[in-house]
Amino acid sequence: MELRADGSRRGLWTGFLHSAKLFPDRPAVVTQGTSLSYRQLREVAIRIAACIQAHREASWTPLTAVFAHRSPAAFAGVLGSLLAGHGYVPLNRTFPVERTRSMFVRSECRSIIVDAESLPQMDALVENADESLLVIAPGLEDPRPYRARWPRHTVVGAADLEAYADWRVPDAHGDAIAYLLFTSGSTGIPKGVMVAHRNVTAYVDHAVERFAITERDVVSQTFDMTFDLSASDMFVAWERGACVCCPSQKTLLNPGRFIRDQGLTVWFSVPSMVALMKQCGLLKPGGFPSLRLSLFCGEPLPVSSVEAWMMAAPNAIVENIYGPTELTIACTGYRWDPKRAPAESEMGIVPIGAPFPGMDVLVADERMNEVAPGADGELLMRGPQMSLGYWKDPDKTATAFIVPPGRTDVFYRTGDRVRRPLGDGPLTHLGRMDSQVKILGHRVELGEVEAVVREAAGVDGVVAIGWPITSSGYGGIEVLIEGGPVDLDGLREAVAARLPDYMVPRRWHVRNRLPRNANGKYDRKAMPAVLGDSQ
Ligand code: AMP
Repeated sequence: MELRADGSRRGLWTGFLHSAKLFPDRPAVVTQGTSLSYRQLREVAIRIAACIQAHREASWTPLTAVFAHRSPAAFAGVLGSLLAGHGYVPLNRTFPVERTRSMFVRSECRSIIVDAESLPQMDALVENADESLLVIAPGLEDPRPYRARWPRHTVVGAADLEAYADWRVPDAHGDAIAYLLFTSGSTGIPKGVMVAHRNVTAYVDHAVERFAITERDVVSQTFDMTFDLSASDMFVAWERGACVCCPSQKTLLNPGRFIRDQGLTVWFSVPSMVALMKQCGLLKPGGFPSLRLSLFCGEPLPVSSVEAWMMAAPNAIVENIYGPTELTIACTGYRWDPKRAPAESEMGIVPIGAPFPGMDVLVADERMNEVAPGADGELLMRGPQMSLGYWKDPDKTATAFIVPPGRTDVFYRTGDRVRRPLGDGPLTHLGRMDSQVKILGHRVELGEVEAVVREAAGVDGVVAIGWPITSSGYGGIEVLIEGGPVDLDGLREAVAARLPDYMVPRRWHVRNRLPRNANGKYDRKAMPAVLGDSQ
């Protein structure tokens, strides 16, 4: 394809267009019971793009919001924004509407693509808008009521889109924003991470080779689009003509049936989904024979989860991939090898492996100097996947993206504690820098407490927290266990035999389900609210 030949004009959409030429009739996405071929998805996306281009004014910020959830409009919206030459800003109707509104306002988008199910929340976004907006609703048959309701804005429905055929290939620039993703900020105000086209194409180029993706693959999409791992599912699959299979929230309650019904070949989720499936008895030996690859990312991956998963998916290679949004999807990876991996895992957690091509690692002490091989410190990384920083927030960008002493390049501080490998061993993830707590002056890694409890209880879903907060740290440790039943007396004894007194949890809580954040990871900040009158 001519676009591909010219590196400077390569946008994130290029792989999709290439596959649409090669495999026009193969399914590009299956969602809401509908299968859209590459030809069909291309057609809708191009009309959306042409519509944005027709209405766009020079003063617009080149970003388009996609307010759509697990629907054809969500996928067409992402592609349509990119094909218009805009970055996309995913919004999520399962978030509190005030949070969505704040993301929308801060992103300064003047165009928004919305699906039918998210339309009822649009009033909150539209009513207080200072400027007129372009609202594209590809699934809306009759836009007239909305035009009457929002006279200042332009509302384009399904039939209107037919008129937009005049699409121009945008001028791609690798440094332009491909997506702007708001992640939770420690201050409570979401930070907008600006991820450039060249960041994502660097990831995609490596991922399609590493995961040997072909047009015959059927790839899961367990993640909402407000979680950057969703970008991996879409762009890695589309780069090679594979199909993205996006279940509804309800279908995801039984992921096992979803894998079997769709004949998935590639699975990608957070590890806590495995813990839940294990607890619900959904991991039957040989239950998922169609899977050839299983990817996990987003939080520490317990060895016991991998072992249970491999029994259910005996034909699948398992990879633990790691990365913050700021380093674009994932930037290190570790392929599970039953011969080597158990010995390379620490505290029952799978290593995060080696950096992806071109990504440099620096494991640093508090002064940002490199620690010795075998020592631990904060993980910093730089390279082609390092994003552009935070949207309209130079102060936060300067704090997280730094030039370490004696270096000339900018590195991103991940806030993750890792062990610098000895020789060519893998990087080991030891926890967050902030998961180290002080109990009566003793330094305690909550990850270590979790590892001992996990092993003694034979349960994967274990979260330890410091509680209550005192002026000098925390009064003690409390532990939350997901699932059960658990023999707490026996467990306490087993844990006390392995940990010093100050590390033994003072109170134990067993719950059917622990709080998860919007991305499906265990939500540590929400744990104190769960502490009731347990033992
Ligand atoms: P997010 O930006 O929401 O993707 O969160 C990134 C954070 O998730 C990282 O900084 C890590 O703390 C954690 N994380 C992601 N992948 C892994 C992994 N494979 N193992 C351990 N922690 C992970």
